[in-house]
Amino acid sequence: MTGLKEILARAQREKWATGHFNFSELDQARAIVEVSKELESPAILGTSEGERKHVGLSEAVALRDAFRKDFAIPVFLNADHTKSVEAAKKAIDAGYDSIHIDLSALPFEENVAGTKEIVEYARLQPTTYNLQPINVEGELGYLRGESKIQQEKIEVKKEDYTDPAQAADFVRRTGVDRLAIAVGNIHGISLDEPALDIDRIRAIRAAVPESVAFVLHAGSGIPDEQIRAAIDAGIANIHINTDIRVAFVEGLRKALADAPDETAMYKLDAHAVQAMKDVIKAKLQLFGSVNKIQI
Ligand SMILES: [Zn+2]
Repeated sequence: MTGLKEILARAQREKWATGHFNFSELDQARAIVEVSKELESPAILGTSEGERKHVGLSEAVALRDAFRKDFAIPVFLNADHTKSVEAAKKAIDAGYDSIHIDLSALPFEENVAGTKEIVEYARLQPTTYNLQPINVEGELGYLRGESKIQQEKIEVKKEDYTDPAQAADFVRRTGVDRLAIAVGNIHGISLDEPALDIDRIRAIRAAVPESVAFVLHAGSGIPDEQIRAAIDAGIANIHINTDIRVAFVEGLRKALADAPDETAMYKLDAHAVQAMKDVIKAKLQLFGSVNKIQI
């Protein structure tokens, strides 16, 4: 089996995208891997800083190892939206395969310096997976919102978008494997329909070497045709969090309402997990990530 770098390179070449799904509970993590196994898709599990505080760093790594053994598909664990160099080093030390160092809120030079430090730190250690190097993602541009259904309209400004020339400079100086870009996407599900700037994706893609894969965060709530256009323009990895959170919690609410006397959590969970799996399946099909575990 192959590493994340090769899988992303193949996705980019063949114009499909890998899915990245967040979890904070065992059932959610297993749901992501079970659907990936069913569709023969690589599984990328993500934990934000809040999610991994809840799961535990060592526990998340142990889960990944167990899934690899039990499911025999490529399973990768990403430290999503890591907002400090210290937190990123902790995830590397714990055995994560992939780090998203997100210093995009800092001034450009500080973003470059911190991201570069993590790339160099990651290069010093092999992951446990076929001794593949740790894959590092940087972020440039301002991504608004958080992973929930937004209650008010969030205005996306053009000046927040990733600038192609600055992106080229950023990847050259940091040496990142992946780049998260801001092109009209916002975290969470927005009130109005999001409009991705597909031309901007093409412009950044043209400015940045092909060896760097592009990541679209905040894939929830974006219409299917825009997702397809974004993949065609060069996106190789798409993050979904809010859509599966909503499915899981709505499934759980329904289960609680249908069986008010039920106290076995695993029985209540089953409905939530099924609702979440339906969403993951539809997303992986939309991304074209079916039958893609062999390189
Ligand atoms: Zn994100």
